[in-house]
Amino acid sequence: MLRPSDAGSARGAVRGALREAVRVALREVQHGALHEALLDALAFVLPVDCAGCGAPDRALCAACRVRLEPEPGSHLAGPGLRVWWGLRYEGVPRQVILGLKRDGRTGLARALVPALAAAVVAAAPDPAGIRIVAIPGTRAGFRRRGFDPVRLLLARAGLTPWRVFAPARPHLAQKRLGVQERDRNLRGAFRVSREVAGHRILLVDDVVTSGATLREAARALHDAGAEVIGAAVVASTPLRARQASRDEARPKPRAL
Ligand SMILES: [Zn+2]
Repeated sequence: MLRPSDAGSARGAVRGALREAVRVALREVQHGALHEALLDALAFVLPVDCAGCGAPDRALCAACRVRLEPEPGSHLAGPGLRVWWGLRYEGVPRQVILGLKRDGRTGLARALVPALAAAVVAAAPDPAGIRIVAIPGTRAGFRRRGFDPVRLLLARAGLTPWRVFAPARPHLAQKRLGVQERDRNLRGAFRVSREVAGHRILLVDDVVTSGATLREAARALHDAGAEVIGAAVVASTPLRARQASRDEARPKPRAL
């Protein structure tokens, strides 16, 4: 027998699947009156709030969509490791990413694709011969969400990652650790499980915070003989928060 919470999550899953199915159908309809009418009908049947601002009846309102337009930038996450990002992890972008990762609103992934794509293009303007490697998620994260956000984003972007990492060893959650503690915590967390020597690799993740996860993944790949040309992420935690290092980064690395 279903407990109320099970029934609630099952209902949520059904709603999510329905929304996604309708959204797929909507993609066939060009923007215009019919498109708007269908969105209104969908909101009536399956009420949603805007993931960015909480406004009723739209999964993402027009004003918040504008806030997701990429403004790419980069910083060094470590010696020789430049990370490119499409958005700053604050305000509307942060709310939408949390909507995807924390609330499981997978339909939001598509709205984040331009930011990820902009970061990938900036990091690898000449993509020939470059392989994309996603930072792997933890089993616990996958069980909780039922999907891997980074892989979902890549799939929506039409990009196929190259699987090179074995499941990560057990590790402490990163959330409450300082920068140096994060690096220590992750040391040896990633194990390369296939031949990567000589390959050129672009790392991809959803959010960069301290950069510890990207540094450790890059170190493991470098040790295995690969060249890591850089990293691309949807959003970067603003500098002041990175320096504070105690923020809302989720536990990493994640291994499937
Ligand atoms: Zn909004």
